[in-house]
Amino acid sequence: MKKITVAIDGFSSCGKSTIAKSLARQTGYIYVDTGAMYRAVALFAMENGWMTDNYIDTAQLQKHLSQIQISFKTNESGIQETYLNGKNVEQEIRSLKVANGASRISALGFVRQELVKQQQLMGIGKGIVMDGRDIGTVVFPRADLKIFVTARPEVRALRRMKELQAKGENPTFEQVLANVRERDLRDTTRTESPLKQAEDAILIDNSNMTIDEQQKLVLNLFNQKEING
Ligand code: C5P
Repeated sequence: MKKITVAIDGFSSCGKSTIAKSLARQTGYIYVDTGAMYRAVALFAMENGWMTDNYIDTAQLQKHLSQIQISFKTNESGIQETYLNGKNVEQEIRSLKVANGASRISALGFVRQELVKQQQLMGIGKGIVMDGRDIGTVVFPRADLKIFVTARPEVRALRRMKELQAKGENPTFEQVLANVRERDLRDTTRTESPLKQAEDAILIDNSNMTIDEQQKLVLNLFNQKEING
C-alpha cells in the first residue's frame, strides 16, 4: 500500500493531537506535533530572556534560531516527548505561559519559515501524520488527506482546564476560556499563515463527539485515501 501524508489542522485544544496520535499509532505512521515545535522555540526565547509578557527581542532570537534543535523521542510508556537541544522539555512546554508565548512567537515570519522547512523535511518519505495550524495550507498543501478540527470554545476550554489540572496548574475556567479565545483570535488574524481551513480539508466539529467516534471516522477517511491514493 502506498504511504500517504495526513495533515490535521484546527483550533487550539480541539483534540487535534489526540486524533493525530491515535491515527499514527493505528497505521504505524510517524506523528509530528508542530505546536510542540513552536512551544519549544518560545521556551528557548523565554529561558534566554528574549521574551517577556509584552516584548520579544526578535534580533537575538533570529540570530540564535539556528542553534535550536527540536526532536521527538518516544518514552518507555509509548508517549512521544519533545526535546530542546537534547533536554526533555515535554512538561515545561505544556504550561499556559509557554502556550501563550508560542502563540506570539508563531506570528514571526522568520520562525515560521525555519520550522516549516524542518517540517517539510520530516515529511519527505510520506507515511506521516502532522498536526498544527498550517499543515494543509502551507507545510503540505498537496497532502493526500486533510482534516480540519474544531469545537465550541467553551468545550475546548473545559478540556484544556482538565489537562492543566492534571498537571498541577489551577487556573479558573474564565482564565482558560479567555486564553482559548485570545489564541483563536491571534491564530486566525495574524498575517503570517493565519489559521484557516484548506479548501480541500474535511471539517470535523467534535463538540458532541466521543474520542472513539472521532477515531473511527478518521481511520475510515484514512483507509479510503490510502486505498485509492
Ligand atoms: O497546538 P498547540 O497549542 O501546541 O500550538 C501552540 C501554538 O503554536 C498555537 O497557539 C499556534 O499559535 C502555534 N502554532 C502555529 N502553527 C502550527 C502549530 C502551532 O502557529 N503549525
